[in-house]
Amino acid sequence: MVLSMIDGKTVQTQKPLEVFNPADGSLVGIAPRMEIADINRAVEAATHAFSSWRETTLQQRRKACLAIAKKIGEHSEELAQLLTLEQGKPLGGLGSRWEIGGAVTWTQYTAGLSLPTKILQDNEEGRVEFHRKPIGVVGSITPWNFPVLIGIWHIIPAVMTGNTVICKPSPFTPLVTLKVVELINQILPKGVVNCVTGEDEIGAAMATHPGIGKIVFTGSCATGRKVMASAAETMKRLTLELGGNDAGIVLDDVDPKQIAEGLFWGAFINSGQTCAALKRLYISDRVHDAICKELVQFARKMPMGVGTEPGTMLGPIQNLRQYQKIENLAAEAIEKGTLLLGGKPDKKGKGHFFPITIVTDLDNGDRLVDEEQFGPVLPIIKFSNIEEALAKANDNPNGLGGSVWSRDIERARQIAGRMECGSVWINKHGMIQPNAPFGGMKSSGIGVEFGEEGLAEYTNIQVIFS
Ligand code: NAD
Repeated sequence: MVLSMIDGKTVQTQKPLEVFNPADGSLVGIAPRMEIADINRAVEAATHAFSSWRETTLQQRRKACLAIAKKIGEHSEELAQLLTLEQGKPLGGLGSRWEIGGAVTWTQYTAGLSLPTKILQDNEEGRVEFHRKPIGVVGSITPWNFPVLIGIWHIIPAVMTGNTVICKPSPFTPLVTLKVVELINQILPKGVVNCVTGEDEIGAAMATHPGIGKIVFTGSCATGRKVMASAAETMKRLTLELGGNDAGIVLDDVDPKQIAEGLFWGAFINSGQTCAALKRLYISDRVHDAICKELVQFARKMPMGVGTEPGTMLGPIQNLRQYQKIENLAAEAIEKGTLLLGGKPDKKGKGHFFPITIVTDLDNGDRLVDEEQFGPVLPIIKFSNIEEALAKANDNPNGLGGSVWSRDIERARQIAGRMECGSVWINKHGMIQPNAPFGGMKSSGIGVEFGEEGLAEYTNIQVIFS
């Protein structure tokens, strides 16, 4: 059993939380299945640690975060192997090693940020100072698709701004988060970063807990709504990074050969289990056939398999619940549209493998277009009028990311500015970076992560008038 960390000490529970490898159904490990009493202990520890952690200097916290980056880097291979076993993604390509490398980069970059005090006024009428204060205990709730990277996106800005943290990883992927928290505890004072593991009810209890001042939540829109409702009672600060249904708009002047690879990875990174992946592709009728041909040709060459095997570029769906959702959406789309690739899963083994599937001749109103699939099934919608394509791209409750593909960058920029989403990429998709705020419009969330704007979300503003 991998143990949880509360107050710098390992915690064991009577009941186990078993974690299975999505590539073959084998048992990867066991995490503690915690109960509400364990959350109370974690809140107590984090509250106690806050009283001294909040008094540390920015330099001390920066030094600690850089040491965390170094520590994660030193353990990168061990973390990557565990991540592949419990999440399913390949070790290579845009897989586990890449995710752990990203966690190191994000930690280093965030460690260099600061939110200095501003003097808003200093004259004979008085002095007005603008301060950013830590909130207190931050609850971090994460999904199963990028457990390490998303965990780091929550933990590091929280501790950099003087808060303490309780992490709650997804019940599908708790093991690698527990390992990261154990490493962090080798650097930080006890109680600054704690981890509770268990089923969804643990997250729900955190969202109502009066001792937690903020929840940073990454997950589905449906759960995000519940978190928001629960948080109202205690007026918690919230950052909600929720689901996406990113549209890509391909204009008539592109070179299909040149953009096929970018379109492919935009849609199929992590087998489509990525918040800001390309989930609906609107293609001009002038280039539709050529793009479909190039995309299918590229996709055919992409090896999907067990993540620990060399050469694997795409892994399985992480869990059965998600697999069944994808299967269902794909079956409906195949009936309605034209299947270009995939569609039929090979059900021989115990792994949740769903093949790369591309379906065209679909439209808004079809479920695969309207709903977030979160898997390797891409719907294509042909258009003849760009205004119509833009209206369809915006006609969705989500607004996380989007992309425009064209040789004419100025024209693409103008269309990008009219897309209703938090990030828009031109001739690429999903390329987030630590210096650019990332967050959703509409149902895709509230608040942003990354950069100074992301850091500020872990603070309360205090103005001192003298
Ligand atoms: P999910 O909402 O089912 O679960 C996310 C986390 O919330 C898990 O840790 C879960 O245990 C917990 N949880 C469940 N019920 C809860 C409740 N009532 N209160 C509090 N916590 C609760 O999401 P998932 O299936 O793990 O992840 C996939 C979703 O996450 C997709 O919709 C994807 O788009 C989204 N996502 C968004 C981003 C982003 O940055 N916007 C990033 C990654 C994933």
